[in-house]
Amino acid sequence: MKRLSCKIRSIDRYNANTRRVVLEIPVGETISFKAGQYLDIILSGKHCPFSIASSPDIKDTIELHIRPTPGSDDSVAIEKLLDLAASVEIEIPKGDCFVDAPVGKNLILIGASTGITQMKSIIEFLLPRKPEQPIWLYWGVLSAADLYLTQLCLSWEREFKHFTFVPVVSEPDQSPEWSGRTGLLPDAVVQDFSRLDDTIVYVSGSPGMVYATYDRFIQHGMSADDMFSDVFSYAPRTKK
Ligand SMILES: Cc1cc2nc3c(=O)[nH]c(=O)nc-3n(C[C@H](O)[C@H](O)[C@H](O)COP(=O)(O)OP(=O)(O)OC[C@H]3O[C@@H](n4cnc5c(N)ncnc54)[C@H](O)[C@@H]3O)c2cc1C
Repeated sequence: MKRLSCKIRSIDRYNANTRRVVLEIPVGETISFKAGQYLDIILSGKHCPFSIASSPDIKDTIELHIRPTPGSDDSVAIEKLLDLAASVEIEIPKGDCFVDAPVGKNLILIGASTGITQMKSIIEFLLPRKPEQPIWLYWGVLSAADLYLTQLCLSWEREFKHFTFVPVVSEPDQSPEWSGRTGLLPDAVVQDFSRLDDTIVYVSGSPGMVYATYDRFIQHGMSADDMFSDVFSYAPRTKK
């Protein structure tokens, strides 16, 4: 693990609350991480985790997507840092939920809100390696305006014939123009698959959402060892 001070190369707004932040790796330094890992931004000694959105194949920059949590003092401090600072201190890599080769089974990636970030890194690592098994990306958001990466996800569908993108809006009342899938992510997956045998699943979201997905998928035939999430490490429950 390394601690680095990285210059902020750019910050762009995806929408009202989510920003894309690109950090520069200092000249002469190297970074090593696996697709799906995260880093910590160090904030007055406190560690704030953020999934790495870029592929490990990119060596000179790191992309993050940052959306403040309402009511969080740490989020307020992170936003202020991004508004004012020229560089940030990071610790990298973190996390044991990653992909380092095509998985050799059907792969379902599930991201809630900015949980898409972890899945983006995994997809951008895997697609150039031409995996033979199909990949599904389920992206769950509250309102359609939160689907800030739709064009990119559709470009993956065009590029890779075994890749399917399924956006799911959980509060369609907020998005009267939305005509796509609605409801909760685990329900959407279970509607699409008669069984989840022989399927690897990666999930990024809150502990409640991840464990609800886990329980639902076990009932639907998923093997207990076939689901991966950072939640299992940072918010373990006695029985997974
Ligand atoms: C492993 C991990 C990765 C994260 N990645 C991001 C990210 O890419 N972009 C981002 O804006 N925030 C991310 N967060 C949340 C971010 O760290 C916090 O919002 C921030 O540090 C403020 O801290 P907090 O404890 O007050 O807020 P909280 O929002 O309470 O931070 C902890 C919570 O973050 C949630 N979380 C886990 N993964 C993600 C995720 N990918 N996106 C959003 N929330 C998540 C979990 O529900 C956890 O309970 C991540 C959190 C964790 C644990």
